[in-house]
Amino acid sequence: MLLHIDEDTIIELAVLVGGENAGQIMKNLLKKPGITDEELSRLLQVDVRDVRKILHKLNEQGILHYELAREKDTGHRIFRWYVGQEQVTGFIITNMKKILERLEDRLEYERAHQFYWCGTRGCRKLPFEEALDNLFKCPVCGKQVQPIDNEETIKAIESKINEINKYLEQISKAKKVEGVHVKEISKTLKTKK
Ligand SMILES: [Zn+2]
Repeated sequence: MLLHIDEDTIIELAVLVGGENAGQIMKNLLKKPGITDEELSRLLQVDVRDVRKILHKLNEQGILHYELAREKDTGHRIFRWYVGQEQVTGFIITNMKKILERLEDRLEYERAHQFYWCGTRGCRKLPFEEALDNLFKCPVCGKQVQPIDNEETIKAIESKINEINKYLEQISKAKKVEGVHVKEISKTLKTKK
C-alpha cells in the first residue's frame, strides 16, 4: 500500500538514489511489478549491466526486492523486481527525520547567534565570533560587517519544520487508517460474490 506517498515522490526518490535512469526504471517497476532486468533494458534502451547496477543500488537502499525464478525451457535464472512499498514509506520517514534533525540543529544555531553581514550579495553571514576574529570586516570583500536580524531565517526554518512534522503525522495516520481500509475492501468483495 502506498499510504499517500504518490508515485512522483517515489520516482523522485529513485532519481536521488541512482540518477535519471533510476527514475525511469522506478516508473516502469510501478507500472509492471515483477518486470525483469532484461525487459527493462529493452524497454529503456539502456545496457542491461547498467540496469542491473541501478537495480542493486535501489535494492541496497531497501526500496526494491526481487524474486528469483527459472525459465522453464532453458533453466536460465531470472530476477523479477518489485517496489517494496512499505520499505519506501520507511525510507521516506527515515530521511524526513534526518532532515528534521538537521533543521532543528540549524534553528538552535540561528537562535543562539547574532550574525554580521557586509551587505554584498553572495557573501556569507558571519556569526559573532567569526566577525570578531575578522575585526568586523568581511573576509571575502573586505567591507565592514553590520549586525543583522535573522528573524526571517528563523521563521523560514520553523515553517519548514512544521511542514515536515505535518507530513510525518499524515503518514502515520494513513498507516492506521490503511488497516481499516483493507478490511472494508475485502468485506465489499466478499458480499459481491
Ligand atoms: Zn563581503
